[in-house]
Amino acid sequence: MMTSQTYTAVLGRLDATRVTVKGYLYQVDFGPTVKSRHHTVDRQLTCTCGLGASCPAVLAVIEYLAEGGAEPPEPPDGFFLLAPRDCPVCGAPAHFNKKLCHRKRGAGWVCSKGGVGHYWRYHFSIHAPGRGRAGQRPALRSSASLHR
Ligand SMILES: [Zn+2]
Ligand SMILES: [Zn+2]
Repeated sequence: MMTSQTYTAVLGRLDATRVTVKGYLYQVDFGPTVKSRHHTVDRQLTCTCGLGASCPAVLAVIEYLAEGGAEPPEPPDGFFLLAPRDCPVCGAPAHFNKKLCHRKRGAGWVCSKGGVGHYWRYHFSIHAPGRGRAGQRPALRSSASLHR
């Protein structure tokens, strides 16, 4: 974690900072003199390091964009760059789950209340072809195979 002291030091060093685009995210490199050197920022300008929107890496990205830097491409619908903090189905805290990471769905996560069922419910609602078809339920089989 960054302390407020390193925070200030980083702000003074924005010139030495490099911002690049990797996949759907910004990668921020503060250079070798900063302890927490590498940060990952999403398109909503939230850093993954725990400081979120108040991370100095976000300022670096804003500066990068102001100078004409390219934005990362928009991820497809229902794609999670990072596990959500709150379950999009019920709002309970959600946790990252490596086994559920997927090329098309992005970061895997599990709801603390609804478990893997909410993960599948969410993705199924996103990728369902429309309301005309009543949903089959692919969730049960998929979740069973995850608990091996
Ligand atoms: Zn950060
Ligand atoms: Zn949930």
